[in-house]
Amino acid sequence: MMKYLTTILLTISVLFQHCGYSQSQPDNKSGLSTMKKENNPVYSNTDSSKVNLSEEEWKKVLPAEVYYIARQKGTERPWSSKYETSKEIGTYYCAACGNPLFKSDTKFESGCGWPSFYEPISKTSVIYLEDKSHGMERTEVECGRCHAHLGHVFNDGPPPTGLRYCINGVILDFKKAQQAAEQYKKK
Ligand SMILES: [Zn+2]
Repeated sequence: MMKYLTTILLTISVLFQHCGYSQSQPDNKSGLSTMKKENNPVYSNTDSSKVNLSEEEWKKVLPAEVYYIARQKGTERPWSSKYETSKEIGTYYCAACGNPLFKSDTKFESGCGWPSFYEPISKTSVIYLEDKSHGMERTEVECGRCHAHLGHVFNDGPPPTGLRYCINGVILDFKKAQQAAEQYKKK
């Protein structure tokens, strides 16, 4: 019996350790609630100073799937992100550096298979680059703080901007709005 119990406990602790890598923990010490990531010293939801890591360093601090999108300009499979249809209220941050990128109230269902927004949080949240790869002329969107590849922006979005920011879900970290989280707890 003890043997079984130990195995179960070990399994649980391994599961928790695994979750601990990608799950974020709120940091309430500073009064500001911010997410933290183990092994990623540059990750911050409040520090807006630019991040300049070498590709080698990025490879060490990012999970493989995030590295592939952020640094190798990869694209996740359409319809694969849990954020694609999510209607939760809160903020989407860069999964590589924690920079706030989009608010949930600018999110809309575009039907394109990737999380879509019509406007970033601020003018400096993202930067724009010409992308002529794959025989197309597109505008690439990168994180304004760490230059992670996020996705592309197109001119067929809804008002008020008419823009569609088509973003890989893998490069997004979502944090529920505080108010919404409190209401949820009261239930
Ligand atoms: Zn970033």
